Amino acid sequence: MNVLVVEDERNLADAIVRILSDGGFNADAVYDGNAGLSSARSGLYDVIVLDVMLPGIDGFEVVHQLRRDGDSTPVLMLTARTSTTDKVEGLDSGADDYMTKPFEAPELLARVRALSRRHGEVVLDEMTFADIRLDLTTHDLSCDDRTVHLSGKEFDVMSMLMSSSSRVVSKQDLLTRVWGADADASENSVEAYISFLRKKLAHIESKVQITTLRMLGYRLEYFGD
Ligand code: CA
Repeated sequence: MNVLVVEDERNLADAIVRILSDGGFNADAVYDGNAGLSSARSGLYDVIVLDVMLPGIDGFEVVHQLRRDGDSTPVLMLTARTSTTDKVEGLDSGADDYMTKPFEAPELLARVRALSRRHGEVVLDEMTFADIRLDLTTHDLSCDDRTVHLSGKEFDVMSMLMSSSSRVVSKQDLLTRVWGADADASENSVEAYISFLRKKLAHIESKVQITTLRMLGYRLEYFGD
C-alpha cells in the first residue's frame, strides 16, 4: 500500500513517513502543493495524506483538481486549524477524511488504514475516454458496438492510460504499477503491451490512439472531430 504525504513542515512530513513505514505502508513525502498534485497524478498512490496550508497551491485546490480529473484516490486532510469551516471546505473539495494537528500516531494509522480499505472497495463499472469504454468487470474494450477482450496486463496498462486521461504516463510508472516487483519485466515489456493495445484499438476502429512522446512516455489522444 503506497501513501503520498504532502506536508511542507519537513520535520512533520518525515515523522509521518516514519509512522506510516512502521505501520507497514510505503510512504513518500513531497513538500509543496504543486509537487503534491503531480505526484498524486502519477497513479502510484493508494492514499494521500494532504496538509491544507501549503506553498504553491493549497491542499483544498490539490484535492479539487484531482476530483475534477476523476481521480478518486482517498485523501486524508491535515490542518493545524480547528474551525469547522475548514472541515466543511475540506470535505466539500472532495477529501474523504479530516484530521487536526497535532495528532497521535495510532490515530493517523487507523485513519489511513480505513481509507486504504475504502479505496479497495470502490466499485466502478466502466471507464470511458473519447469514443472508447473499458468494462472493469469483463475487461472488454469497446467502441460503438465493436468489442475486444483485454488480457490482464493489457487491461492494467489501458486502465492506467485511461485514468490519466490525456496526461503523459511514463514507461517507468507503467512498469512499476503494472509489473511491480517482477524483475524480468523491462521497458521492452511495456512497449510490447502498448503495441498489442494499438492493434486492439485499430481492431475496434476507435479514433483514440496511444501516442509516444519520446523520452517521456505515452498518452491517449483522440483523432476524431
Ligand atoms: Ca503546512
